[in-house]
Amino acid sequence: MTQENTSTPNFDFKLIAVKCKNCDSGLVVEVNDNITYCMSCGSGFEIVDGELIPIEINFAAATMRGNGEPIYKPFWLLKTTVTIHERNASGNFFKNLFGSNNPTGSGSVIFYIPAFYCSLDNMKVLAQEFTMKNPVASPQKFNTKLVGFAYGKEDAKKLAEFILISMEAEKSDMMKTFNYNIDFHSLEILGIPFYKISENRYKDAILGIEI
Ligand SMILES: [Zn+2]
Repeated sequence: MTQENTSTPNFDFKLIAVKCKNCDSGLVVEVNDNITYCMSCGSGFEIVDGELIPIEINFAAATMRGNGEPIYKPFWLLKTTVTIHERNASGNFFKNLFGSNNPTGSGSVIFYIPAFYCSLDNMKVLAQEFTMKNPVASPQKFNTKLVGFAYGKEDAKKLAEFILISMEAEKSDMMKTFNYNIDFHSLEILGIPFYKISENRYKDAILGIEI
């Protein structure tokens, strides 16, 4: 005969303080965030199975004024070489990059891919405009909070590919042939400043895109 245990189960909740590997400061980690930035020393870490793996995190300076203090949102910055083997498409991006009417060849492309959650339409317009204009010449360290990571490295690579194709052919029926390859050299994080313009609307402080 077994006796039923009627005592309250003893849930042992433990809060694990995450500390910076470089300077020992406490780190801000929001629920679901798998990347964290140390505001004290500027180190970035990817959290992989509880381990802190260093990742480069920098910030873009605001170039437009807005109301209030900017809020920084994380982007993936993917440094790549794109090789076009064959192309018969409508987009101007590679025409501009390679400087001929129907170019093939290789070129360096830095993709800016939102790492925070936003709608597909907003993701597309932000990624296309920032990737085409490449407006952040000198990313730097800021003593500011950076949270809200929704997409990891593998998502970022797939999204970069999606953006590459979308820049080549705004309308999918315009694309006849597009044979390409992307070599990923590095994946870093870039904080881009946004101003809050209403309850759920934001405007970035570099290109002025509203999302
Ligand atoms: Zn630190």
